[in-house]
Amino acid sequence: MGSIPDTAPVVRVFIAGGSYAGLSTAVNLLDLGDGLSPRMAREEYTHHPSVPKVNFQITIADERDGYYHLIGSPLALAESEYAKKAWVQFQDLPALQVPNVQFVQGSVSSVDCDAKTATVVDSITKEPATHQYDYFVTATGLRRVWPVVPQSLTRKQYLLEVEAQIKALDGAKDGILIVGGGAVGIEMAAELKHVKPHLKVTLAHSRDKLLSSEPLPDECKDKALDLVKETGVDVLMSHRLASSTKVESPDGSSRYEVEFTNGHKMTASAVVMALSKSISTASYLPSSATDSEGLVKIVPNMSFDPSTPNATSHFCAGDVAKWSGIKRCGAAMHGGHLVANNIHQLVLQQVAQHQPKFQELPEIPPMIGLAVGKNAVAYGPDEGVISGPEVMQAYFRDDLGWGICWDWMQLGGRKSEAKA
Ligand SMILES: Cc1cc2nc3c(=O)[nH]c(=O)nc-3n(C[C@H](O)[C@H](O)[C@H](O)COP(=O)(O)OP(=O)(O)OC[C@H]3O[C@@H](n4cnc5c(N)ncnc54)[C@H](O)[C@@H]3O)c2cc1C
Repeated sequence: MGSIPDTAPVVRVFIAGGSYAGLSTAVNLLDLGDGLSPRMAREEYTHHPSVPKVNFQITIADERDGYYHLIGSPLALAESEYAKKAWVQFQDLPALQVPNVQFVQGSVSSVDCDAKTATVVDSITKEPATHQYDYFVTATGLRRVWPVVPQSLTRKQYLLEVEAQIKALDGAKDGILIVGGGAVGIEMAAELKHVKPHLKVTLAHSRDKLLSSEPLPDECKDKALDLVKETGVDVLMSHRLASSTKVESPDGSSRYEVEFTNGHKMTASAVVMALSKSISTASYLPSSATDSEGLVKIVPNMSFDPSTPNATSHFCAGDVAKWSGIKRCGAAMHGGHLVANNIHQLVLQQVAQHQPKFQELPEIPPMIGLAVGKNAVAYGPDEGVISGPEVMQAYFRDDLGWGICWDWMQLGGRKSEAKA
């Protein structure tokens, strides 16, 4: 607790994860540090007259070498041109090319919350390096399997990975079977049929409603089914996969013989498992910080639950946070904004004896936006179920939300209307 500083205080913020939650934290912190309103704020931010600026020294660690628009995966795995757009290397994000932001490509392997140090294993050299911080932000999301999400860590490797998949699916003369009618399977099947209408695409789901594990009204699930069928995808409801066996033909080609538990059989050139098994990435945190599923326990201002040492210096946003609501990228970006706000308030408390005004995360009711070919279906407590091409435009535009996220985070550079 010192006297009011003459120069901008220097505050080290370490952000684990450079995607929606992590980058939103970083860009909003940069605004606050420069004495501006955070770019995602709806209302003007009141800065402290004695601490107009803060020198945030931000380190962003990510296993990947760039920002990957995860939502775009179903299209990235179907169309080469889009795949190129979906992954932007960190060095090509104009908004973050400033001297006080440093990117580290590597995997965060452990965090000592007591000592306030984070260890990162470099992706290339595999050497560990330890970073000291004043504030730590967990924004590493959930780990998802191939082919739900590309597994490459560099843009170069990723382009090869998706190209191989696109080629394999392109030549699928016996059609493609997508297994799993959750959000990911629906979007994968619909995008594939939309981009490659010549392909026979089948979506199989074990239950009698799509999106069966989501707490959504039946009207939303039924509308999703109507829209998938409208794209030309064959839908098999109440079909649980029993086996899929690869059979080689004498001409060198291969296909899969598939059987469901209800006895139905079919063949397909490719079987894509779109069962969204996702697991926490936060194994690098002390066990006191996470629940039995590895999700990070937070309080409404998004700092860690008090059971972890220095809890108020540790924050979490995005999918890996234990909070209500369906995991969504809008929630991840919003969370990053609140974390930036609350870190700034704590800095003011420390250097200017300011009474912090935290922004708190409310309970989030179930809501969803789902792209289904040319249409989208959305549900929220206020609007109810809405669908159609205009919903697609509002929720995803024509690039599965790439431009919406890019613009919301202003990754191309801060818009001039940010106000001091
Ligand atoms: C196929 C698919 C479609 C989706 N469609 C939609 C949609 O239409 N609308 C919607 O709102 N949501 C959608 N989602 C959900 C949305 O993508 C997530 O809610 C969002 O990605 C969460 O953002 P995040 O920043 O928390 O995590 P992520 O986007 O997962 O980012 C985490 C980052 O952390 C990095 N990382 C992980 N572990 C480590 C580590 N140990 N060290 C360093 N870095 C690490 C990763 O490389 C990654 O860059 C979809 C998800 C999938 C898989």
